[in-house]
Amino acid sequence: MSGRYDVAIVGAGAFGAWCAWTLAQRGQRVLLVEAWEPGHSRASSGDESRIVRTGYAADALYTRMADASLAAWRSLDADRRGAEPPLFHRTGVLWFSRARNDRAETTAATLEAEGVSHERLSPTELARRFPQFDLQGVSWGLLEPESGAVMARRSVARVAALAVAAGARLVRGRVHAEEADAAEPRLLLDGEPVPAGRVVLACGPWLPALLPELLGGRITPTRQEVFYLGPPPGEPAFGAGRLPAFVDFEAEIYAIPDLEGRGVKIGVDRHGPACDPDSLDRRPDPALLAEARERLARVLPAMAGAPLLESRVCQYENTPNGDLLVDAHPASERVWLVGGGSGHGFKHAPAVAAHLAARMLDGAAAEPRLALASAPPERRRAVY
Ligand SMILES: Cc1cc2nc3c(=O)[nH]c(=O)nc-3n(C[C@H](O)[C@H](O)[C@H](O)COP(=O)(O)OP(=O)(O)OC[C@H]3O[C@@H](n4cnc5c(N)ncnc54)[C@H](O)[C@@H]3O)c2cc1C
Repeated sequence: MSGRYDVAIVGAGAFGAWCAWTLAQRGQRVLLVEAWEPGHSRASSGDESRIVRTGYAADALYTRMADASLAAWRSLDADRRGAEPPLFHRTGVLWFSRARNDRAETTAATLEAEGVSHERLSPTELARRFPQFDLQGVSWGLLEPESGAVMARRSVARVAALAVAAGARLVRGRVHAEEADAAEPRLLLDGEPVPAGRVVLACGPWLPALLPELLGGRITPTRQEVFYLGPPPGEPAFGAGRLPAFVDFEAEIYAIPDLEGRGVKIGVDRHGPACDPDSLDRRPDPALLAEARERLARVLPAMAGAPLLESRVCQYENTPNGDLLVDAHPASERVWLVGGGSGHGFKHAPAVAAHLAARMLDGAAAEPRLALASAPPERRRAVY
């Protein structure tokens, strides 16, 4: 395969699949190398659904990236045939404003400044539109009406297929790296150098283990769990169209309505213990399930005691402060690093791919927040 490709993308998660499709559409000869399947169950992109929201408190960069990406995710349904389930559900995303948390306030100000559609809902209006919620302590609600949830694994598989339709070649294989301090890594596929002019490493939680010298201390995979809880029978109030996806930073939870009958999905948005994606025990933790259930029932009382239908154990790949990573390897313009999703990256995959293409092909300037050099030395989460 030597020399036949302009770019090899290693990893077909959300980031790698969008990079492959974007670069193939730009006329690049693309090789997409994936150790398993696009959107497989061990990958960070491998769950059923992911929230796509545009609100990022005062952070205009991620609001802009999310807004641009939202349009790209929605475009995947443009040629959907009638019987096919959608890849994007416009459920809306609701934020709660509480006395001790002004995140909704700063988010509303940023959305206003960026011209992104949003609504302020008084407690009366919230209660009228969303009677499912217990609104105790809620002073008002911020609704992103255009936002929603992407069916994650199906969308990643679709984007990889679109990359192939645009000319990319998808192969199953695992790339290995020989890394010497301060030198360009030697990247091998089946014992031979990866046959491409440039290589994009979009390996999600496997990235720090691939380049331990460079990224071992910079990206930390952590164990994360989500639970799918079954709404009461005959009760439509928890499906898309009735229940919005929501984030409640004070309660440390986020949730997605019952999509495709899998149940209401809830996650506790707190970093779990550091983990290795290859050896991670993917059985759910009963204590965390009990906590998630209890927190959900406080917000949605009718879900108290809801049965567990499914669960997923996967991983965040955290940079020190939560900024994503899109940058060239410091020892080589040939090797690019794309990752550090940090628990919020999925939604941004189209914008990440567009930024990579602009940098690689058009010589666009680096976005300092996404650069390797900008990562602060100590771990302190600043982007949610
Ligand atoms: C529980 C949970 C909830 C989340 N919720 C949200 C949310 O609601 N909204 C949001 O925007 N984000 C969310 N995220 C974050 C988001 O899912 C991730 O940031 C994103 O999926 C990361 O995508 P990726 O392509 O970098 O990694 P991955 O999806 O892990 O893809 C990496 C791919 O690279 C392949 N690979 C790795 N090494 C090699 C190699 N050496 N050779 C070949 N292939 C290789 C892997 O097999 C894998 O398929 C959440 C994450 C988790 C875990």
